[in-house]
Amino acid sequence: MTSSKPTLAVVIPVFNEQEVIPELLRRLTIALGNLPEIICEVVFVDDGSSDQTHTLLTQACETDTRLQLIRLSRNFGHQPALTAGIDHASHADAVVTMDADLQDPPEIIPELVAAWRNGAQVVLAVRRSRQDNGIRRLGFDFFHRLFSRLTDFPIERNTGTFGLLDRQAVAAFCQLPERHRFFPGLRAWIGFTQARVYYDRQERAAGTPGQTLRRLVHYALDALFSFSYLPLRLMTYLGVFVAGAGFVAGLFFIIRRLLGIEIAQTGFTTLATLSLFIGGIQLIGIGILGEYLGRIYDEVKKRPLYVVRKNRS
Ligand code: UDP
Ligand code: MG
Repeated sequence: MTSSKPTLAVVIPVFNEQEVIPELLRRLTIALGNLPEIICEVVFVDDGSSDQTHTLLTQACETDTRLQLIRLSRNFGHQPALTAGIDHASHADAVVTMDADLQDPPEIIPELVAAWRNGAQVVLAVRRSRQDNGIRRLGFDFFHRLFSRLTDFPIERNTGTFGLLDRQAVAAFCQLPERHRFFPGLRAWIGFTQARVYYDRQERAAGTPGQTLRRLVHYALDALFSFSYLPLRLMTYLGVFVAGAGFVAGLFFIIRRLLGIEIAQTGFTTLATLSLFIGGIQLIGIGILGEYLGRIYDEVKKRPLYVVRKNRS
């Protein structure tokens, strides 16, 4: 039998993607057809879609046994959906992770597999170019630049979800328990031999991004706060600086007073500005602390990352 052949699972989170699914299935079938030496399966994770996505995928699964569908009980978000798929696919020798909207071209999968067959345990698909426009693009660029400076930990620039993890890497990934997840960061964190495959990121094939700008900002903050202590450290530095400046200014005023040099009786503007400034800094500091505290609270609650909805029998 074919049991000696390696197995590959392609994990795809989907949320309201009815427009792209037919095209996705067509291109995936062709791409996987180019891998005759490997047993392929595709794990779709329906992240609580409210359009025809679920119906379309169920139909596709009935006609093609290589397709599988997991349905989450509601919309949990891209990262939890991705994690659900990876958990489900952990029996495979390798797992490819990609988006449904064809921004990650399925035609690259054979190249990812080739890199894996050449010995890499983690293969990163690196964007040579990006088709996003406007504020999204500016945001992505800004984020990647800022992020690579801020983290205590090197994370490959211009990588997203797209890539491949071998069985060992998947096992390591599944051990990471955190609720606020930033996939590229976690993938960098687990280590292993990594290889890169370059590709041109396409425009979204159809539909609108399910990851709204607001969600992307949250995602970026998650990335920052879960991979960097720098915001906390900066507050400490700022505190030391302001306290130091306060001390010097205090000394200056005391000495002037002792020498009998009279200070003009005004000073309201100075006082008002200073107290607002210091108050503002303190509030920002508390806000930053709060970001970490909220995340700690989420971790401590230990709620499951996602809930799978079973078919009623
Ligand atoms: N997605 C998901 N749950 C969500 C939002 C998005 O599973 O709540 C899926 C979506 O269907 C797509 C992938 O995650 O396959 C990436 O989403 P999107 O294209 O909206 O994000 P972007 O490309 O802007 O990062
Ligand atoms: Mg997209």
